[in-house]
Amino acid sequence: MSKGYYIGIDVGGTKVLTALADEKGLILKKAQEPTEADKGEEAIISNIKKSIDRVINNSPITKKEVKRIGIGSPGPLDLEKGLIIENSNLSWTNVPIVEILEEMTGIPVILENDANAAALGEKHFGAGREADNIVYITISTGIGGGIIINKKIYHGGKGNAGEVGHMTLIPDSNYQCGCGNYGCFEAVASGTAIARRGREVLNKERESLIKDYSNNEPDNIDAPLIASAARAGDEQAIEIFKLTGRLLGIGISNVVNLFDPEIIVLGGGVMNAKGLFITELKASLQKRALEANLQDLKVKEVGLGKNTGVMGAIAVAIGESLY
Ligand SMILES: [Zn+2]
Repeated sequence: MSKGYYIGIDVGGTKVLTALADEKGLILKKAQEPTEADKGEEAIISNIKKSIDRVINNSPITKKEVKRIGIGSPGPLDLEKGLIIENSNLSWTNVPIVEILEEMTGIPVILENDANAAALGEKHFGAGREADNIVYITISTGIGGGIIINKKIYHGGKGNAGEVGHMTLIPDSNYQCGCGNYGCFEAVASGTAIARRGREVLNKERESLIKDYSNNEPDNIDAPLIASAARAGDEQAIEIFKLTGRLLGIGISNVVNLFDPEIIVLGGGVMNAKGLFITELKASLQKRALEANLQDLKVKEVGLGKNTGVMGAIAVAIGESLY
């Protein structure tokens, strides 16, 4: 293990979370800045720079002691060129983030897909520590994934492996995905799909708390609103979550059959409502995954909580010396 310090940056749609850690991933300093995504590229980069300066200036570490910076971003990315081809959270296209940050800081920068980074963070510091092969799946407005094989991120041929959200789950579904296809895993089982099913309730005659809570206004409906209705006993809301659980179980069983991971790590905002669907998820996983692959398989929640993204970026920065 080579001694030194590393910075991880998690650039979200609303905030930039940056942390300075040692070579074991122990955090020395954390900083948070607003992303100000609406103000454009220069403002976002200036906020990233501010957060880097803050973690360094508020610690006893000098810039020279920082070996690398890791940064996670939704794709598509060009990892070789250090290019963010598109990041819809930030309205970015073709931003050479590695070059920009390296010029700004003088520190080497590594770019990684955010779900892959989170998977690596969970493998080395979180729920996947005891295993060599894990798959991380995040269930939020979309569904993303990262595959860790023999402790390392599996990138595939062009760096885009692990896009579990775009496995086709229901080919004749009328739920369109952001990728243009219909019936993708994330189109039918994400927080967005939960909200969409909730909106459909507004068109039905049956009474529902979803109607009351939203004042019959489709724009007011999101997954947390459906979860509140389900917790208050609304049958249609309960059914939406049960269906989501069954679909999640099917998607995860496909992943388990393909990769035979030791641990499936689940994260993302929809997991806040896990009590409403985890029984159905596990039952459909049990039913559809191959028995041999189910043996000793663990399904866990993320171990790093809100720090999964930033710890993932730190794991990316530390890189090879982690293993
Ligand atoms: Zn898709």
